[in-house]
Amino acid sequence: MLKIPNYVYGPKDITIPLDVNFGQFMLGRMSLYKDRIAQTNGATGESFTYSEIVQQSMKFAISLTRLGVRKGETIALFSENRKEYLSAFIGTACVGAICTTISSMYAEEEIKHVMHISKPKYLIVSPKMYEAHEATLKLIDSIETTILFGDDAKKPAPYYFNDLVASVGSDIDVENFIAADVDVHDVLFILYSSGTSGMPKGVTLTHLNVMAAFCMPAILNPELSSLNIREWHHSSGVLAVSAGMAFGRSGLYLENFELELFLKTIEKYKVAQVVVAPTVLVAMCKSDAKYDLSSIRFIYSSVTPLHKETISAAYKKFPNLKAIHQGYGSTETTTVIITYTYKHADIVKSGSVGLVAPNIIVKVVDIKDQRPLGPNQEGEIYVKGPLLMKGYMGRARSDDFDDEGFYRTGDVGYYDEDRHFYICDRIKEFIKCHGEQVPPAEVEAVLLLHEAVREAGVIGLKDPDAGEIPLAFVSLQPGKEATEEELKEFVAKRLSNPKHLRGGVCFVIEIPKNPSGKILRQELRKLAKSGKSKL
Ligand code: AMP
Repeated sequence: MLKIPNYVYGPKDITIPLDVNFGQFMLGRMSLYKDRIAQTNGATGESFTYSEIVQQSMKFAISLTRLGVRKGETIALFSENRKEYLSAFIGTACVGAICTTISSMYAEEEIKHVMHISKPKYLIVSPKMYEAHEATLKLIDSIETTILFGDDAKKPAPYYFNDLVASVGSDIDVENFIAADVDVHDVLFILYSSGTSGMPKGVTLTHLNVMAAFCMPAILNPELSSLNIREWHHSSGVLAVSAGMAFGRSGLYLENFELELFLKTIEKYKVAQVVVAPTVLVAMCKSDAKYDLSSIRFIYSSVTPLHKETISAAYKKFPNLKAIHQGYGSTETTTVIITYTYKHADIVKSGSVGLVAPNIIVKVVDIKDQRPLGPNQEGEIYVKGPLLMKGYMGRARSDDFDDEGFYRTGDVGYYDEDRHFYICDRIKEFIKCHGEQVPPAEVEAVLLLHEAVREAGVIGLKDPDAGEIPLAFVSLQPGKEATEEELKEFVAKRLSNPKHLRGGVCFVIEIPKNPSGKILRQELRKLAKSGKSKL
């Protein structure tokens, strides 16, 4: 058969094992690196070796089985980045259970929303999250068993992760451990993304999706130290960090992102490679803190567009910087699907997000008639391959995939004559603030809980530091009053930090809608640009 013109095919030189549980695969890979340091907490210096994480993962899996966890049941992992996180994730995979990771930034409404989607039966939680959200977690009916990380808990819990691991006794030979049998299309992961529109949905990723991601060529150089500051609840966190571990990389992590601590960690550990969102890179370049950052040789950026100005500022700021590479992907694509790796250093084109990853096919289609376009023509990016999610929970695949099985990303871009890709715009609804998704529908739903709000429409405003910030248009119920500050506070109490109304609140008489009631965000954008707030 001939390749279809205007489809861009990734290389076909990668094979994916189809007969193995992802947890077992990770144990096999990690056990190769024995006493090498796997991860170090940049703030505390606490580290763990590959042997330690292999043992902890197997023992935790055995304990989960003893607790009665069965294949296909869902376990929620709700924690900031911390040392037990990765073994909890791998142990969960080993028993064939589904892991759903919950953002440690989430506030009450978000926790309830995502747990309502995935309905976890088990909860693994850090003391910090447990103390902050105990009342909300008690409202989640599906949770039957709670397991607490660490020894620093101030509140009692039915089970403690460390005790469960210790209860298994002496070390196990990996050769004697067998993970649960799974089909490659069984779900391993539920993550959350609003996709092209609406409220956050449950993205289901299978063992095949994750195995395919882990068989991709390494993006960072495994020989050099690296620091990834994404939160592990996101696929660019837990999957990227574990993928590095499948190659034996020694990584650094931070519990949460703080610029000062991040810079200090780079200096202390002479970090050579950093994985950052463009907004963090902007902050690094602007910072006048006096840390020695001369160790930085390689920067990897994804999540939002990286502007030319930021690239030149970074080369000025970091004297030994050799390359800045980008990558493009989404929660729905498991990991980056268009990217450069450290081995592409000689062919990188500035501003490009890279080349199509192995086993992936991309087409850029005309937005009006979905015709696949040739080089240098902008259109919506459609992608297909083993990294593409199974689907959103409770939603037909045909809502998000075309007849040929391509996922419609809602992103606009093009490729050049050498098949290097560029991202230009987003036609999907969500706003990205500091690299985190802000689904307008979610902020609107919270505003509508306020008794004075009749209608609400939220859009993103460009912002040099955060990328975009949410701005709300609100119309009030007749006879009711509310101030901008009051509504900002109302949202801030219920949603996580990136969703706070930093762009402000504009009061309007009516929110522009089409005849079927859909908010006309384009009109709101025009209004924001014109500075008028009356409709
Ligand atoms: P998430 O599912 O939270 O990872 O968000 C995925 C979305 O982030 C993509 O659909 C794009 O809109 C955006 N994105 C990811 N990588 C890039 C990039 N390198 N440049 C521009 N936008 C990006």
